[in-house]
Formats: sequence, structure tokens, C-alpha cells
Amino acid sequence: MDPGVILFAEIGATRETARIQISGDAARDVAQAVRFEHPCDDSTCNITASLRAGFPFVAAWILRRARKTRILQRSAKTPLLDAVMAEYDMNPGSPEGLEEWEAHAATVSLRCDGCGAYTYDESRDWFHGRSCENCGSRLRAPRHVA
Ligand SMILES: [Zn+2]
Ligand SMILES: [Zn+2]
Repeated sequence: MDPGVILFAEIGATRETARIQISGDAARDVAQAVRFEHPCDDSTCNITASLRAGFPFVAAWILRRARKTRILQRSAKTPLLDAVMAEYDMNPGSPEGLEEWEAHAATVSLRCDGCGAYTYDESRDWFHGRSCENCGSRLRAPRHVA
């Protein structure tokens, strides 16, 4: 890893070239790469949810797994993210913070009865007739929110 190095790579989703300057802060640079590779504001997206909650390595790991299983058809590859991770010699197999994210996710997500998708909201604002963005079913607020 070389702070100041500028990486140029393609963004998988758009095929545009982006650049990231390696800052020396892996969390910051990986978060930036994930935002480039997966520009998404979907409330049922665990990539966006984990990124927002401060788990960029987990977000990168989910994004790369989604890529492999082709859940995200549009972004089959993540060259920019791969380049950043390679720069930091990161092991893509076991992201830092995965257990913490899973514990956190359980407190900020709600499962849809209709489709099984999870809606994430850091503010836990699930009340007042909110619907699942995935299928449109009304979400049932939990009796107890951790
Ligand atoms: Zn997403
Ligand atoms: Zn649903």
C-alpha cells in the first residue's frame, strides 16, 4: 500500500473509468469504491445498509458475493473495488466487522412478510404504514425494537 497512489479502474456497473487516490485509510477508500461500484439507495439493500452503518469491508464483501452469484446482473464485475482491495492486500474471504454487522443488522432491519426481503433503517423508522420497497407489502412493525 502506497499512500498517494492514484488508481484508475473501470466501474463494473457503468463501465466508466473512475479514480481513487489511496489515502492510507483502508475503510475510507473501500467505502468510496463501494459507492462508485454500487450507487444504490434501496432500503432493502444490505450493501447500502452495511456501508451506511459504518461497515465498508462487509459492504465490499457482500457486493463481491452478489457479483459472483450474479444477483446483481448489471454490475457483474467490480474492477475498481478489486483494485483498491488489492492495494491494501485485503483478504476478500473474511471481512473485518462481519459479526458486528450481523448483530447490528438485526436491530435495524425488519423482514417483509410478503417477500422475505429485509428493510434496513438506521433510524428504525418502520411505523406509520411503511411498505416494503421490494414487493409493496406493508411492513409490520415489531412489538419490541432493540
Ligand atoms: Zn443496492
Ligand atoms: Zn416485500
